[in-house]
Amino acid sequence: MALREDQIVRYSRQILLREVGGRGQEALLAGTVRVDGIGVSGLTAAAYLAGGGTPVAGAGSLTLGPWAPGFLMAPSDVGLPLTEALAREVPALNPDAAATGPGGGLLAELPAAWSGDAPWVALGGDGMRAAVVFRSAEGCVWCFGETVRHLGSPPDGALGVAAGTLGALVFQRLRLGLGPALGGRWLVPPGVVEALEPRRCARCAAREAPSAP
Ligand SMILES: [Zn+2]
Repeated sequence: MALREDQIVRYSRQILLREVGGRGQEALLAGTVRVDGIGVSGLTAAAYLAGGGTPVAGAGSLTLGPWAPGFLMAPSDVGLPLTEALAREVPALNPDAAATGPGGGLLAELPAAWSGDAPWVALGGDGMRAAVVFRSAEGCVWCFGETVRHLGSPPDGALGVAAGTLGALVFQRLRLGLGPALGGRWLVPPGVVEALEPRRCARCAAREAPSAP
């Protein structure tokens, strides 16, 4: 898929980044990411992904609450299922990001059900910090599950916005084939990013343990 002239103009800031380029922008435009989250972080991530050209569709059965209007949602979207609200607002924000075929990954607020194609990006927290956990197709499903199982829902407010922004960026990097296959970041108020060491599933832990003498 070659970029059209209007797309080159629209995404020029991303295309100029060495890590993205024209080929990378084509990768960002291909495949629909499912977004499952009606909080500040999930909706922020959806808005940034759509703005960057990635098709976005809603997942799950959640309905938007009174906190939803902001970057992406209008007051008239309150009370709508997320799937319906995204189908309305995403093409209005960026026609390129209207949902197309399946097979483009999942970004969800915790707790969430994980299935389907990678990349997977989880937005969560531990009550004080926000967390972003991710895996590419090469990352262990069980280590990812073990890591997100110990996290709660993501924070609201500015920290939630920051988590959603970082989550969208992480998702885009995985789409471009960048970064480790499995990893995470803590976001600590007021704005410090720290490494989040993923937990190991029993199988990976056994494989990585030093062999007995
Ligand atoms: Zn594992």
